[in-house]
Amino acid sequence: MSKPPTTATAPSTHADQRDLDVAAFTPDGQLTPEGELAFDRLTARLIAEAGKTADPQNTLARIAKILPAIAPQAIAKVIGQREATPGHYPWCRPGGCATHQDGDRTWTEHDGNSYSTLLEDFAGNGTLEFVAQLTQDDSFHGAAPVVHLYDGGGDGVFLDTPALDDTITRLDGLVSLLRVLRQQMAADLAEVAAC
Ligand SMILES: [Zn+2]
Repeated sequence: MSKPPTTATAPSTHADQRDLDVAAFTPDGQLTPEGELAFDRLTARLIAEAGKTADPQNTLARIAKILPAIAPQAIAKVIGQREATPGHYPWCRPGGCATHQDGDRTWTEHDGNSYSTLLEDFAGNGTLEFVAQLTQDDSFHGAAPVVHLYDGGGDGVFLDTPALDDTITRLDGLVSLLRVLRQQMAADLAEVAAC
């Protein structure tokens, strides 16, 4: 007895080759039905893997929390492994680079994808957004690519390789500092001596 497949069928826990070939998005960026099924299969696989851990609920909660933090680097990594089109870097956004002309000099401004990290306060009112983007423009930054790191408000810095190395060290330090402060949040208020 075989049932005709419907979209209500529980997705298989095995992501397969189909998922790599599927047209996951419409031209305006909406998930296609096939894309939705592929994501369902990926989700089913994550749930199955979480089920093998000691505390599946907790593992799933952690995955949901860290996905926004790890998705940009995962996407950037895969994009950086693409074969570059002639005259461009592997990280160039297709159709996103602009050609400029000044007299008889012509050059290309190369731009990669923008990746943003959003920090939200506990009340959900205040936000801090950091955006990072690879870019290279002969007439502006020179011959080597730089990372443009800026906040959602627009102010930012252009980081060449040594400046980016320094920035990574300092941001690592900032994360370590936040961990120290996080521990200190558990400290009790010292009691006031009664007189
Ligand atoms: Zn380019």
